[in-house]
Formats: sequence, structure tokens, C-alpha cells
Amino acid sequence: SAKASGKNRLCFYDPKLDEYAMLRLALLNDFRKSFANHDFVVLYQPQIRFSDNALIGFEALVRWHHPERGIVSPIEFIHLIEENGMIIPLGKWVLNQACKDAMTWSAPLQIAVNVSPVQIERSNMLLTVASTLENTELPASRLELELTESSLMCDGDNTINLLNELRQQGVKIALDDFGTGYSSLSYLQRFPFDKLKVDRSFVIAASNHTNSDGKSDAKSILSAILQLAQVLNLETIAEGVETQEVGTLLHELGFENAQGYFYGRPMTADQAKQLIIDWPHNIEQNNS
Ligand code: C2E
Ligand code: MG
Ligand code: MG
Ligand code: MG
Repeated sequence: SAKASGKNRLCFYDPKLDEYAMLRLALLNDFRKSFANHDFVVLYQPQIRFSDNALIGFEALVRWHHPERGIVSPIEFIHLIEENGMIIPLGKWVLNQACKDAMTWSAPLQIAVNVSPVQIERSNMLLTVASTLENTELPASRLELELTESSLMCDGDNTINLLNELRQQGVKIALDDFGTGYSSLSYLQRFPFDKLKVDRSFVIAASNHTNSDGKSDAKSILSAILQLAQVLNLETIAEGVETQEVGTLLHELGFENAQGYFYGRPMTADQAKQLIIDWPHNIEQNNS
């Protein structure tokens, strides 16, 4: 039963741990081969602006096409390759691919790329970004980097300097999964962000109409986050919007932008390119 297996996990010796360690090792070994074979692909998920339903850009999300396992989610392997630093070459590859693909779009929309704390701490992101922009010819203003709160934990001053330099180049910085990490209000004030990307868990909580735990309403928390964003002059985006109702609710609460399955699932580069052409109101059309 579930209870029995739960109990097993508390044992001091668990053969499953060995199994897990073996699996990790095998996966890392496969990763090395896959990286050499280019078995990775970048998918793109649309981001929209509430005020006029404009398509504002896409987030780049990496996928691993494992030769035997099929598609492996980044949730399963990013953490693994962060530990041994292989996220650095993979992250560079994703950045380059995303910028290259964005250059083929029919409108100059934004491309958001996830950056791991390991890339921040152990590689020269300023150089990587500068050379990628130069090679792909993507204007810096079209690139947004998504950092999680864990990027802010170590070496604060170095990270602040890096972010300031990136922003001087015109690159935008978003704080991803906001609310799930450990960042305090002082982090928000100290680090130069352009955008707050509020975590899906808050969005899910706000969409649940009844609150059985008696704690403060999820909607009030979102309102507080939005007020904070306003005070700090940060743009806002909500992630994980799966229905029209939730989208409407978030718009009413005061979010500026959204991303989620309701607007579009992560899609191939070709599909993203086509979506820009088909979208009824993208930025370029609004400006012209
Ligand atoms: P994230 O950056 O917070 O990306 C959003 C994740 O939520 C994506 O999962 C996306 O597919 C999923 N998602 C989007 N809309 C919805 C929705 O409406 N409902 C639900 N249930 N899920 C939604 P994905 O692609 O599996 O990526 C997971 C995480 O892996 C990302 O979370 C990001 O932290 C990381 N990741 C993905 N690609 C990269 C990358 O190139 N580099 C790094 N460092 N991390 C990456
Ligand atoms: Mg992200
Ligand atoms: Mg996120
Ligand atoms: Mg997330």
C-alpha cells in the first residue's frame, strides 16, 4: 500500500537509493552522449499582454530527446546537470538556439531564456550573452533572461554587477517562479529586475474558489505582490494560466501579462513562427 511504501522510505538502508544513484549515473552518461549528438530541442511558449491581447513573446523551454526514453522533461535533468556543470554548455546552446529562432520571426517579439544559478556563478554570462547577441544579431532589447530566486543567494554583489551590466546592454531580467524561493523584500530592492514572474502555485491557489484552511485568501496575496511590483516599478507576468476564467481573474487583479496552457503550450520553433503570423494582435501590428 501507499502507506507501507511511505514507511519504507524512512529505513536507514534502502536498496531503492542505490537504484536511484544508478539511474542518475546512467542519465548523466546518456546526457553526455546526447549533448554530443544534439538530441535537444527548444520549444517556445507564448506570453500575452492582457490590455490588448497582444502576443509579446515566447519563453524558450528545453527538451531532451532521449534515444530510448523519449522526451525527458527539464525537471528531471536540469538539476542533475547543474551538479556537474553541464548546464553551462547546455544553457549556452539553448540561448543561442533561442536567439537564432527569434531572428526568423516576422515580428520583433521578445524571447525569454531561463538561466541557471550555476551559469551565473560559474560561467561568464556577460560574455556568453554578448557573443550570442553578436553572432545571432538579435537586438539586446528582445532578450529577457529568467533567473530564479536561488540565483540571488550566493555572491550577491557579483550578481548585482552582472545584472546591471546585462541591463546596460539592453537585456531584460525577470525573476522567475517568484514566491517559491527564499528571497526577501530586500532582495527585490537590491537586485535590478525588470519583471516579476509570479509562480504558478499562486495562480492555482487563486483559481480555487474555496479556501478551507482559513488562511488569507490567495487573491489577497496576489494583490499584495502586485502592489509590491508597482512600488518597485516591476512589470508583472503570471505563469500557469490554464483557463479563460483564471486569465480574467488575473487581469482584474492587475497583472499585465500572462503565460500558460490557455494561451498556448510549449511549441516547436516552426509553430511559434506561424503563431506570430496568425495572432490577431501582435505588437508590430499595434505599433503600425
Ligand atoms: P519555468 O521556467 O517556470 O517554466 C514554466 C514551466 O511550466 C514549463 O515546464 C512549462 O511547460 C510549464 N507550464 C507552462 N504553462 C503551464 C500551465 O498552464 N500549466 C502547467 N501545469 N504547466 C505549465 P517545463 O518546460 O517542463 O520546464 C520546467 C522547468 O525547467 C522550467 O520552469 C525551468 O525552470 C526549467 N527549464 C526549462 N528549460 C530550461 C533551460 O533551457 N535552462 C534552464 N536553466 N532551465 C530550464
Ligand atoms: Mg522560466
Ligand atoms: Mg517560471
Ligand atoms: Mg515554474
